[in-house]
Amino acid sequence: MKDTARKHWSKRTRAVHAGSRRSQYGELSEAMFLTQGFVYPTAEDAEARFIKSGEDEYIYARYGNPTVAMFEDRIASLEGAEAGFATASGMAAVNGALTSMLRAGDHVVSSRALFGSCHYVLDEILTRFGVDVTFVDGPDLDAWRAAMRPDTKAVFFESLSNPTLEMIDIRAVAEIAHAVGATVICDNVFATPTFSDAIAQGVDVVVYSTTKHIDGQGRCLGGVILGTEEFIRKTVEPYLKHTGGAMSPFNAWVMLKGLETMDLRVRAQTASAQAIAEALQDAPGVARVIYPGLADHPQHALCQAQMGEGGTVVAVEATDGQAGAFRALNALEIFTISNNLGDAKSIATHPTTTTHQRLTDEQRAEMGITPGLIRLSIGLEDTDDLVADLLDALELA
Ligand SMILES: *Cc1c(COP(=O)(O)O)cnc(C)c1O
Repeated sequence: MKDTARKHWSKRTRAVHAGSRRSQYGELSEAMFLTQGFVYPTAEDAEARFIKSGEDEYIYARYGNPTVAMFEDRIASLEGAEAGFATASGMAAVNGALTSMLRAGDHVVSSRALFGSCHYVLDEILTRFGVDVTFVDGPDLDAWRAAMRPDTKAVFFESLSNPTLEMIDIRAVAEIAHAVGATVICDNVFATPTFSDAIAQGVDVVVYSTTKHIDGQGRCLGGVILGTEEFIRKTVEPYLKHTGGAMSPFNAWVMLKGLETMDLRVRAQTASAQAIAEALQDAPGVARVIYPGLADHPQHALCQAQMGEGGTVVAVEATDGQAGAFRALNALEIFTISNNLGDAKSIATHPTTTTHQRLTDEQRAEMGITPGLIRLSIGLEDTDDLVADLLDALELA
């Protein structure tokens, strides 16, 4: 990583400046190098670069690109990681982190409450290639301990699960995993880089879908894998550069600019989410509010210690199950029915029939995804307007 950040800089300063490179034109805003290829002054230079490319020497955008490198270095600096590799989507990052390091015969332990596609990669794809996967109840540390084996190579979890907002005790699970030498991979989307200290807390590899809070305005897909220089350069990069999961330079440019405002956006969205969770607690039509920033969340204390804040997503369970949830969703005026999250626009999702539709009723029940559950991603609109929109709609549930 090219770390242009000073050691004492805080995350907010890193989010604006880390990783920047300037061309000979001295542009203020980061340049978008929308190019697949790079030219070499001589045939000897081309040969030399294919043998070993140095810092800021590029070959082909599937391997790397200056705009993508600025984004990778900026988010690595923010997260306290030695290096990063940016990917075409969050799922390319999840799949890339796991598949690049695993081989047939390896064992993986994962928390059960996962985003639908993460569950698919672990449950359907890895197993097809001879990797054995054990799912455990994420908050149950004894279950993690019991699942570890001498051949356990990786541990995977969403630090705050989608959509039921179960928190994983990062320090505790990392300690359990490291005792058998397993690599700890954390999908940190819901924590966001703003509230993450995952590497300092013991995680080896952090993955983000940058589609969410990092873009923050619903434009581009993207993902990133963050880890040690050794893991990124020797394990992740060879796999991704040959299998074609690289991030587009255009998307990297959007993500770079997104990082500059992410902290402000995420803090404002989180303050709204906390107020909304509190306002919905005893509201008509609401059976239950799940938000780690509420004192009644089973892992509220862990949330305070690990993230400091509850994040930008609130889950509510409507009374009268799916019918009630649908009545409420259809009555919303500001919240749009969609499945993105972390967006400036507030979004409501019905996981049972959309993001987690592929699972069986039994699997959903195990993850706590009930038919009445609505996932609310809180955006940047006025908090009072959002509360009024939700109260009016949920009353119909
Ligand atoms: C959205 C999401 C992903 C996948 O990201 P894409 O950019 O949509 O591929 C993975 N994990 C979690 C927790 C997510 O919310």
